[in-house]
Amino acid sequence: MADNHNLLLRANLKQLKLPAMAAEFEKLAREAATANEGYEQYLLRLTEVEVNARASNAVQARIRAADFPVVKDFDTFDFTAVPALSKPKVLELARGEWIEQRSNTCFIGSPGTGKTHLAIALGLAACRQGKRVQFWTAGALVTQLEAAQKQYQLDRLLAQLDRIDLLICDELGYLSFSRAGAELLFQVFADRYERRSLLVTSNLAFSDWGNIFQGERMTAALLDRLTHRCQIFEMNSESFRFRESMKNKKGKKTD
Ligand code: ADP
Ligand code: MG
Repeated sequence: MADNHNLLLRANLKQLKLPAMAAEFEKLAREAATANEGYEQYLLRLTEVEVNARASNAVQARIRAADFPVVKDFDTFDFTAVPALSKPKVLELARGEWIEQRSNTCFIGSPGTGKTHLAIALGLAACRQGKRVQFWTAGALVTQLEAAQKQYQLDRLLAQLDRIDLLICDELGYLSFSRAGAELLFQVFADRYERRSLLVTSNLAFSDWGNIFQGERMTAALLDRLTHRCQIFEMNSESFRFRESMKNKKGKKTD
């Protein structure tokens, strides 16, 4: 009889799309019986299981949608390797208030200093806080914008980008763009001004951005908007990658 009830209950929960409850109700019922819990308490516990599972699935879905190249978090970031970087300031950003305030963050510095690592870690933190995030390299974003324009799909892509709470634009400055490409990127940045957040990483100092955006006027206009409300981190330490590989080499020599 109990078996029959359980089968029916499982079928109902499945139809109602409550898979976590379906998976857990028997175990929780046994625990409730042992602990002498009331019906409401049992139901509360059971619904909590579903609520938690949904929240965790939503975070996973946002992380997938963000399209990070790899998953890197703060736990593997060695702040002592970048003494110029304020750890409290970075961890403050991980709380995500800057995204609610629609302000920006820039990591500027030479290659291998952890800019992408921190951008991903901040993006992950935002995903966990329920924010929509997308990670792009500047080159890929410009290519996508140009392709969308050719296919008369630019408005659609811009609307899609507009729904993103935090747009990460990594590696600005590694590649220079065509004039048209730079204008499209400028449009994305300008559209977000005071409405949505941007996180930009670049190996170039702001004074060299004219080379990417071709033209002093566009560069000045862009920097004006980007940096108006922006936390800027300069990370010009020695390359972490380089340092690690030197450490490994030294380690091998002394073996
Ligand atoms: P950048 O984007 O500045 O060129 P990355 O973030 O790609 O540098 O860092 C290069 C590699 O070194 C990555 O694997 C990254 O995880 C690692 N790395 C860089 N800085 C640190 C650090 N301070 N602590 C731990 N790993 C780091
Ligand atoms: Mg990088």
